[in-house]
Amino acid sequence: MKLKVCGMKYQDNIIQVAALQPDYLGFIFYEKSARNFDSEKIPELDKSIKKTGVFVDESIDFVIEKINKYNLQTIQLHGKESPEYCITLKSQNIEVIKVFSIVDEFNFEKLKPYDNVCDFFLFDTKGKYPGGNGYTFDWNILSNYPLKKPFFLSGGIGLNELENIKEFKKSNASNYCYALDVNSKFEIEPGLKNIENLKKFKNITALAETTKNKKERVMNYNVNEKGYYGDFGGAFIPEMLYPNIEELRQNYLKIMAEPDFKKEFDKLLKDYVGRPSPLYFAKRLSEKYNTKIYLKREDLNHTGAHKINNTIGQILMAQRLGKTRIIAETGAGQHGVATATVCALMGLECIVYMGEIDIARQAPNVARMKMLGATVVPALSGSRTLKDATNEAIRDWINNPVDTHYIIGSAIGPHPYPDMVTRFQSVISEEIKWQLKEQEGKENPDYVVACIGGGSNAAGTYYHYLHEPEVGIIAVEAAGLGIDSGESAATSVLGKEGIIHGCKTLLMQTTDGQITEPYSISAGLDYPGVGPMHAHLSKTGRAEFMSITDSDAMEAGLELSKLEGIIPAIETSHALAIFKHRTFKPDDIVVMSLSGRGDKDLQNYIDYFKI
Ligand SMILES: *Cc1c(COP(=O)(O)O)cnc(C)c1O
Repeated sequence: MKLKVCGMKYQDNIIQVAALQPDYLGFIFYEKSARNFDSEKIPELDKSIKKTGVFVDESIDFVIEKINKYNLQTIQLHGKESPEYCITLKSQNIEVIKVFSIVDEFNFEKLKPYDNVCDFFLFDTKGKYPGGNGYTFDWNILSNYPLKKPFFLSGGIGLNELENIKEFKKSNASNYCYALDVNSKFEIEPGLKNIENLKKFKNITALAETTKNKKERVMNYNVNEKGYYGDFGGAFIPEMLYPNIEELRQNYLKIMAEPDFKKEFDKLLKDYVGRPSPLYFAKRLSEKYNTKIYLKREDLNHTGAHKINNTIGQILMAQRLGKTRIIAETGAGQHGVATATVCALMGLECIVYMGEIDIARQAPNVARMKMLGATVVPALSGSRTLKDATNEAIRDWINNPVDTHYIIGSAIGPHPYPDMVTRFQSVISEEIKWQLKEQEGKENPDYVVACIGGGSNAAGTYYHYLHEPEVGIIAVEAAGLGIDSGESAATSVLGKEGIIHGCKTLLMQTTDGQITEPYSISAGLDYPGVGPMHAHLSKTGRAEFMSITDSDAMEAGLELSKLEGIIPAIETSHALAIFKHRTFKPDDIVVMSLSGRGDKDLQNYIDYFKI
């Protein structure tokens, strides 16, 4: 567990405590507190120590002024700050800790509105004043902690609590305890810390930590305040794009949390897309593979795949940002069609960039986009495929920064795109939870499975299960003609760290860093990288990655058609093919994202099977 030392006040004492290398140092900006920090500056600290400002119901401007003046990395909110207040500050690129005080009992329902808008909770003892009351609350109350958000444990922790901490570490709740927060029990007088006692405490708790099973430790699979998933993500963009990305970054969470936005998004998903999509128990498929298989029917959405969930979200976002012109890039045309569809729905101008070669290969989708009123612009440079179309779209955006929104079609691109797309697609796992509860009496399956191109249907299918360790995550990539054939798109196996389309992720490249042309029979999986969340899931081992060849995928697509009467998209067929290669227990519940329908792939199936 990490350590936070709070209530710092005196310059020399700050330097001494910082030498012990705590993870957080807290500075209280609250005039009524004996530890109110009123110095003009904080001494230069090691970069690994997060300077944390503690506030009680201050104005946003006051908090922002302190963030800038003292270069704070974290803020801790002790008052009755609302979820909207938290979001506004989160857009400042800052880590947010929301505090809740506990007496003899606690209604954990109170936390839910804050789950998506802060990085951590902090639990301390309810007393006369906010914080620093010097006594502990009954930590057993936390055994009812219903969320997965990591928290700080606070309130009167001193050397006397070492035994209790040891006990607490055996509890389930401790899996989500990210840090211990200490203050008054280590003081000589308010604001002046006893270095020897702190050293003792830190050494003993650190020792206990090294013996703890690493797997149990809290791991965060969501994006952090800097736009990273572990080592991956970020925003590597040309300077000229900075204003566009920054505008989006500062506003996306705020807009998504607006009740009006949520209402309109949910209504369109229901009445226009046709959600909720069914969770279908595939009886004959389950019998064949001797396990329980559920299919999440994204193929039944309007336009035939999951992509519309994201384009609906982004078009509403674009409207809230005052944009009147939409651009997109497309490879196989699926994302272009989903974008043209929502532009027609909202009456916005739509320009889709598409490689000249792809335009020739994907005639039906080009026709669809035109019928929907979009302008399809051929990309004539380079290999005249997806990456060239992406370059053209970026160039357009640089030239039209004010009125144009760029709708990216997968969980890729510079921050905040991967997180924004993931949140729009997370409706998939949100529905799976209650649908599975209805059918199986529990929210959590044993596995969730999805195919990965850039990773948007997968991110949506995993989202609400990322921090449920008992739910296994399986990610399925396209092996093309075979991993060693030189003709594949198996990024987790073949990829190395690199930068593509504005983010750092795993990516297939030559030894001198040139991006390798990917290959897969399915146009939607034919991408040389994966979204940064999936790179992180792969590197940390949270997800199990499998690669499926063209031929196995085609066979699995035919099999589902004959066993269940559902013709899947070839992308989805890759996920379906895992059952041939991996056994599950008879009572395992496996939920698979059936990302799209096979109508668009009919010619491919016909040619392959000579039907
Ligand atoms: C586009 C597409 C995919 C791949 O995209 P992700 O962003 O990885 O989900 C998968 N399945 C279908 C049906 C698609 O159209």
